[in-house]
Amino acid sequence: MRINIRSITLAVALALLATGCATTNRGGRLVSSGLVSSQDIANIGGYSYVKFDNLCDRYGIDCSIDSVSKIAVMRQNGATVKVMDRSEISLVNGYTKKFTPETRITDNHVYLSPGLADHILTGIFRKTASSVKTVKPSSQLRIVLDAGHGGKDPGAIGRGGLKEKNITLDIAQRLKDVLDRDSGYDVVMTRNSDVFVPLTTRSYIANNANGDAFISIHVNSARKKAAHGFEVYFLSSAVGKKHKAYDDIAEATELAKCITSAASYRLGLANRGVKPAKFCVLKGTYMPSVLVEVGFISNRKEAINLRSPEYRQSIAESIADGIAAYRRRK
Ligand SMILES: [Zn+2]
Repeated sequence: MRINIRSITLAVALALLATGCATTNRGGRLVSSGLVSSQDIANIGGYSYVKFDNLCDRYGIDCSIDSVSKIAVMRQNGATVKVMDRSEISLVNGYTKKFTPETRITDNHVYLSPGLADHILTGIFRKTASSVKTVKPSSQLRIVLDAGHGGKDPGAIGRGGLKEKNITLDIAQRLKDVLDRDSGYDVVMTRNSDVFVPLTTRSYIANNANGDAFISIHVNSARKKAAHGFEVYFLSSAVGKKHKAYDDIAEATELAKCITSAASYRLGLANRGVKPAKFCVLKGTYMPSVLVEVGFISNRKEAINLRSPEYRQSIAESIADGIAAYRRRK
């Protein structure tokens, strides 16, 4: 009942307030910015649309779609955007905005004009995210887990077609489960399925979530088949000083050390030490950031290990041990 009254109110508001400047773009800028991938662009009736429900999952946007009234509401960090099927008008924080082509809503999908999608991602939600710190208990550590690669990007491919993207996602999901058992953590994932997520999108998600630490999970590969072991990279000061606070780099070094020693202790792996990195995914994040290479897909023994769910579970648990050790010393 409540939703109907709200729907009618919104429908009336949208019908009465058909004002504002119409903007049109074909989504190219959004794709080139990395916020939206080409798979998120759909063609409906000759117009380019952004399939926004895909982005809700990816960016942690709370998105509810009422399939009866055909109204969708997107919320993040206190900002709200309401859209309605077949309407060029949207309500952005209570103000009307006009974008063409008109919004399309079918079943559980919301298709927005590229202009509106851009306005939401780079304006409304981003602005509120940087100005309003998400409220969380100070004792809680928000960990952003980044499963490397995904979708059209398989990452390294090992013996028997073993794909890095599947291993990284599985370990990230296991690690999330382990961390979720402890109320001291709040976990945000940059992807939770086999989708392609551009690097800039990954750091956007991490920054938008105000993460306390960013952990990117990868699998190594080397021409030298004997190469094996666990490696953790942190952003070096040389690369980071332009963009990052020195504290973040010092913290990342500590986090990297804690994870490496926990992994070599629990897994009995060769400790290849912590190393400075220049990875793009670490450069864009404003928090202590590390990249964990959990083993070599090119090494026969480690590839066999990585195929085993029990082994992947122990990797997840050892990374969790490392995070716990890092938290204890804070
Ligand atoms: Zn990788």
